[in-house]
Amino acid sequence: MNLKDKIRVVEDFPKEGISFKDITTLLQDGKAYKRAVDLCIEAVKDKEFDIIIGPEARGFLIGAPMSYATGKGFVPVRKPGKLPYETVKYEYELEYGTDALEIHRDSIKPGQKVLIVDDLLATGGTILSTIKLIEQLGGQVVSVLFLIELEFLNGRDTLKDYDVKSVIKY
Ligand code: IMP
Repeated sequence: MNLKDKIRVVEDFPKEGISFKDITTLLQDGKAYKRAVDLCIEAVKDKEFDIIIGPEARGFLIGAPMSYATGKGFVPVRKPGKLPYETVKYEYELEYGTDALEIHRDSIKPGQKVLIVDDLLATGGTILSTIKLIEQLGGQVVSVLFLIELEFLNGRDTLKDYDVKSVIKY
């Protein structure tokens, strides 16, 4: 099965010039979704980690099934105002616009080994901010895993100090 065939490319979304990789078509195909998660787990099988962290919302779609399959906990990183307890916050720029992310202050213990997952690596801004939040709490990022990597945007340069893995490349 070629997972790329399951991803719908939508031109000019969310604004002109952006060729958006839409994974909803992959997710709605049970076999393709399972294969995608299995390949994500395979990509980090040599890594030791205590916990999986994913940014909302599509990071949850990859991170939560990986958490279930590996028996490791899942920590959500969310847009401001969504998490109910005390948070730390980081502001960042992305391919289109700016935003901020928050994490619960007590969600990572100092020294814990963290695997970060998200659906897609574009410029790397989202994940660099996620890394800042994790490191602020004393977590150690052992690897960063993406289902999709847009290689032409060179997000790996932004994440050059970290181990970066991806399953599907454009
Ligand atoms: P980055 O911070 O520039 O690496 O952007 C990555 C974030 O933007 C991810 O969380 C993606 O969900 C989202 N994103 C950017 N481009 C696309 C795309 O083409 N398809 C789906 N999501 C995208």
